[in-house]
Amino acid sequence: MPFFNRHPWVFAGAIHRIQDDPQPGSEVRLLADDGEFIARGLFNPHSNIRVRLYGWTEEVALDAALWSRRLDAAIALRRRLFPEFTPETACRLVASEADGLSGLTVDRYGDWLLVQFTSLALWKRRDELVRLLSEKLQPAGVWLRTEKGIRESEGLEAADGLVEGTEPPRPLFIEEHGVRFGVDVVEGQKTGFFLDQRDNRRAVAGYVAGKRVLDVFCYSGGFALACAVRGGAKEVLGIDSSEPALALARANAELNGVAHRVRFEQAKAFDALERLRDAGERFDVVILDPPKMTRHRKGLEQALRGYHSLNHLAVELLVPDGLLVSCSCSGLISREEFESMLASVAQRSERSIQILEARGQAPDHPVSTQCPETAYLKCDICRVVEP
Ligand code: SAH
Repeated sequence: MPFFNRHPWVFAGAIHRIQDDPQPGSEVRLLADDGEFIARGLFNPHSNIRVRLYGWTEEVALDAALWSRRLDAAIALRRRLFPEFTPETACRLVASEADGLSGLTVDRYGDWLLVQFTSLALWKRRDELVRLLSEKLQPAGVWLRTEKGIRESEGLEAADGLVEGTEPPRPLFIEEHGVRFGVDVVEGQKTGFFLDQRDNRRAVAGYVAGKRVLDVFCYSGGFALACAVRGGAKEVLGIDSSEPALALARANAELNGVAHRVRFEQAKAFDALERLRDAGERFDVVILDPPKMTRHRKGLEQALRGYHSLNHLAVELLVPDGLLVSCSCSGLISREEFESMLASVAQRSERSIQILEARGQAPDHPVSTQCPETAYLKCDICRVVEP
């Protein structure tokens, strides 16, 4: 069982017996069959993750002092990564399992904290956790976001809203590697911005000077603007299906003074790719950053087929020697599976695909070696060459 190696999840099926009728959210001890102590955790009878583990020694209680130490450790990493913490720094401050706090995600956007609870037990301790965060960081405000499906999976009833301090401005402005973005933390997707792609945007920008770039699934313009502003791309077209995202993207192009080189269009990705191909359009660089394609193992095959079709279309739009930036945030798809999908795209399109950079998520979204699920993002920067 993975929890013997300090994986923080105990699934219902791994539990043989539950003693003393623990209440939802209460502290429990995980024991081996022979009665030997394994870990201390928090119980949730509604969740398939029946117990989340936080402590590996019998003596250390799961109390405010422990949460405080975990938060300190998490914050210390981000202070190291972002020594300045300017009013426009945005980063993930607490990354759930990867920071030993399974079920708590905290993003910092300047002076505001965006908090998400994905476990009932930490939700029940929210006053304590928010108090600790406020003491340590003195934010202007703390805003709660909730993930879809959390009521079903955790039995957690929460509504988005202000938890403390003042409401965040809309938009709120952040800066990333020299590019500025307006972010809607209240209604934007996730907590408003895809912070995990920060360093991938910079990496891609390094390849695009003077090039014609297509950014598919562009959201508020993350890659598109990194390419136009930082990378000096000649022309960028961004595609997304969400009109609110595109409104922000256009405003962000204005904000950075590149609106004359960047265009955004509303369309479904497949439709747009087919239409561009049929119109004979070609790009030097195509970026694909689709949303998570599956949450369940049973959807895996279909998701891989979806990635295959998207990537195949993208390859068809590339000039010879073009660059394909292919991303996947589906944690259930391993890097091996993802790259073997790229191999079959290469075969079908009769090109070679060379991976120049096999990238993951930015370091404020660390990967826990004990919890492989924390490594979810793939971003491969590839060269597509005629064989
Ligand atoms: N690349 C972005 C993040 C992309 S998130 C960045 O750097 O910030 C995925 C995006 O895909 C979302 O903006 C969502 O609106 C969009 N999307 C979802 N389904 C889509 C579809 N079928 N066609 C086009 N866009 C879609």
